Amino acid sequence: MKYLHIMNISSEDEMITFGNLVSRILLDFIPEKAKKATLLFFEGDLGVGKTTICKGILNSSGYDGIVKSPTYNLVETYELASSRYHHFDFYRLGSPEELDYIGIRDYFQSGDICLVEWPDRGKGFLPLPDLCFKISVKRSGRELNIESKTQLGELFLNHLSIAKENQLG
Ligand code: ADP
Ligand code: MG
Repeated sequence: MKYLHIMNISSEDEMITFGNLVSRILLDFIPEKAKKATLLFFEGDLGVGKTTICKGILNSSGYDGIVKSPTYNLVETYELASSRYHHFDFYRLGSPEELDYIGIRDYFQSGDICLVEWPDRGKGFLPLPDLCFKISVKRSGRELNIESKTQLGELFLNHLSIAKENQLG
């Protein structure tokens, strides 16, 4: 599956629950000794819910603390029992070249999981993601368009789609 469209996620709680589901699929399918990071991109306007999904992912991957938006330090790293997670927010990046200074390549050459908000601002310095989540406001809730860009991403998306259906059914 290349695209998954989710019509309505109507509250913050539902967004977190959806993040929990994404995390479960990730944990089931990430190759144990991956040489390359697993990359998820989160796109959408300010306040659309990117950090909220990341919270859902981190909280059900074994992190019980508060997930802060890494707007000022660009990246927050979480060493969890399941894996190491890097949560990026490039909103305040002056130019994509700045990513070289923080040694961005090292993050992507690890077997870690990278969650990236505002990937557009790092254009040219980021590899293709496994999955790209496009979030938009729909009435009082949110709509999601998820696209897979790698084979691993496609596998995730197939399982995510099945899990989402089971959750509804
Ligand atoms: P972003 O990281 O995209 O800037 P946040 O995750 O910080 O956005 O969320 C912004 C606001 O949107 C929060 O107040 C949150 O409660 C709300 N929100 C998140 N998801 C939903 C949803 N599915 N429906 C309604 N409100 C939501
Ligand atoms: Mg955010």
